[in-house]
Amino acid sequence: MQPDDLDFDKRHIWHPYTSMTRPLPTYLVVSADGYELTLKDGRRLVDGMSSWWGAIHGYNHPVINQAMKNQISRMSHVMFGGITHPPAVELCRRLVTLMPSGLECVFLADSGSVAIEVAIKMALQYWQASGYPRHEFLALRHGYHGDTCGAMAVCDPETSMHSIYHSYLPSNRFIEAPKRSFRESWEPGDEASFSALFSNHHQTIAAVIMEPIVQGAGGMRFYHPEYLRVARALCDQYGILLIADEIATGFGRTGKWLACHHADIKPDILCLGKALTGGMMTLSATLTIRRIAEAISDSAVGCFMHGPTFMANPLACAAANASLSLLEDESWRQRVEAIASQLNKELLPLINHPRVFDVRVLGAIGVVEIMQTVNIAQLQHWFVEHGVWIRPFGNLIYLIPPYIISSKALTILINAISTSLDQPENFSYS
Ligand SMILES: *Cc1c(COP(=O)(O)O)cnc(C)c1O
Repeated sequence: MQPDDLDFDKRHIWHPYTSMTRPLPTYLVVSADGYELTLKDGRRLVDGMSSWWGAIHGYNHPVINQAMKNQISRMSHVMFGGITHPPAVELCRRLVTLMPSGLECVFLADSGSVAIEVAIKMALQYWQASGYPRHEFLALRHGYHGDTCGAMAVCDPETSMHSIYHSYLPSNRFIEAPKRSFRESWEPGDEASFSALFSNHHQTIAAVIMEPIVQGAGGMRFYHPEYLRVARALCDQYGILLIADEIATGFGRTGKWLACHHADIKPDILCLGKALTGGMMTLSATLTIRRIAEAISDSAVGCFMHGPTFMANPLACAAANASLSLLEDESWRQRVEAIASQLNKELLPLINHPRVFDVRVLGAIGVVEIMQTVNIAQLQHWFVEHGVWIRPFGNLIYLIPPYIISSKALTILINAISTSLDQPENFSYS
């Protein structure tokens, strides 16, 4: 490693959502193990982010590592056109078994955003095959579905990048974000705007796309399960497809296997990613019901028009199979419950801090919403100085720790947030 790695990085390498001329500082991480990241200078940080929802079993997990080593010694990759392989077959078998019944046709792609593109294209081809093409999607304000163009076009038009790419993106229809939060009680009439939009525009809408229960990057909002049931019922009534984006919420994060399970509903198309490989490799899956697959396949086009070069990458499939085998004994349930109850006990009281607007907890997700936007560079620095890895955005400081985190380490994360609130420089720009 060269002494000027950080300088080179700053001069030549893009990071997520950053400027090339005024980049936020980056930290040099050289290894990661369990719930800890190790910096170049030897300091170890307790991880509160699971590398953006992915590393649910922690880092450097021996079972996943071994599965990947075994796979590497056979083949890291082989094309999926005209070829299949055991890791992909095993993974799809598992997904068909583990996901809601009926979702039995699996498309494996390389990232969450691509899984969304695939879902969108499947819905478009489905309607084209029916002889009544439809080109509009209904999405929620505050929604987030990825950064590629199709995905961006169903993200919240204000908080996402729509304005920058406006002239290039297809136009879709948006509905107010669900007002009723997860723990509030549902009131008759809450579904009125949703119903009205459906009765006025159902002839043009190909599918409704939503993040079930948790709106993640669009604001870390937890909404009422009844909203999801209403959406399902309206889709059924008008024959519109429902796409569930469980890329962040899948695999137990919210306390249920899928966030859809909070409402006991089944989507017609399901997108998975992030924790699919235990956060070890990039891989995503789009699952559909057979009726959609058949309509597309029996159409004049005769096939589904998508096929990434690295489709079903065997190494990523091996990581996913190992991750799913670790989830099999259901011990994630107790772990997520334990995290939830500790967050409820230790994080929730921060609601009384004058700087705090709201605190909310669902499963292994804890969110502290600040009255104003935070100074990310300063607050990030402060967290690193205090031995934790927490990446705030906007006015949100949130925790999505690996399920294997110890209660002592979780307390360290919570205390770091708590004491950071008393440092005015973390919340000012001077
Ligand atoms: C992260 C995320 C995506 C995009 O996944 P990438 O792998 O980053 O492309 C899509 N939808 C949701 C809900 C996400 O959280």
